[in-house]
Amino acid sequence: MDNQIPSLCPRLNKPRKFPKKPVTICYNKAAAVQVDRTAYDKARHDALLGDVIEKITVPKKSAKTWKMLKGDLCRVTVVEGSQVGDMNFWNLHNPKERFYSGKTRQLHASHLTTYDRLWSNMPYVRPMATVIADSLSRYGIDEDGASVHDVIGTRCDSYTIELITGKKSHDSCHTYLTRAAQDAGLTEDDVHDVWNIFMCTGFTKDTHQYFCKASPARKGDYIEFIADMDLIVGLSACPHGDVSVPVGLEVPDEICHPLGVEIFRKKN
Ligand SMILES: [Zn+2]
Repeated sequence: MDNQIPSLCPRLNKPRKFPKKPVTICYNKAAAVQVDRTAYDKARHDALLGDVIEKITVPKKSAKTWKMLKGDLCRVTVVEGSQVGDMNFWNLHNPKERFYSGKTRQLHASHLTTYDRLWSNMPYVRPMATVIADSLSRYGIDEDGASVHDVIGTRCDSYTIELITGKKSHDSCHTYLTRAAQDAGLTEDDVHDVWNIFMCTGFTKDTHQYFCKASPARKGDYIEFIADMDLIVGLSACPHGDVSVPVGLEVPDEICHPLGVEIFRKKN
């Protein structure tokens, strides 16, 4: 490589050739991470024909938490304009068990869609929820390698925003999720890396840098998941709105919107 420091040994200054090797998928959607699709489709059907037990609006630039029991279905909807959301998941009975975005990324992919699952941290490593419907599933992987609903990004936070801009900010998903977590009896330490719903992200082909583009979600788009255990769920309506403005620049209020949440429970 041209930018390497020359070695004192001339033999080592020759460019090194790396032989091509085949790609191996590390965790190729093993049987253990796949769901019985027929059973989950039926669970969706039953839940949607049941009762709406809770309806929540997460106002723009804020976060809320709610509880779900195993088998409940949650639908998050873009109710006004394009808007991304950052989600956290905790075991209702033991918040030390929480969503593990990195392991979910390994087990499924960098972007989740129908029948992918959200996994918990070690030592538990259990499915917390299963995605059961996604109105953006046809977006697929675009020409830049981007897709939606990623488990790559960690959440926007005031600490990194200050690092980048030098300015203090109190508007971030981490701040909002912390406040919402505190309302649920949790602390800032319990807030963790998120599932970025409706967000369109990828890595650049040349430098592998994380990028985002304006969300393709529009009013009426939704994503649904079924709880695989009793849960506390947190959702932040990101202060970057549809993420059409790069982090660090002023975000116009008009690109920020609320998100709608409905919880369905099947009739007994
Ligand atoms: Zn955010």
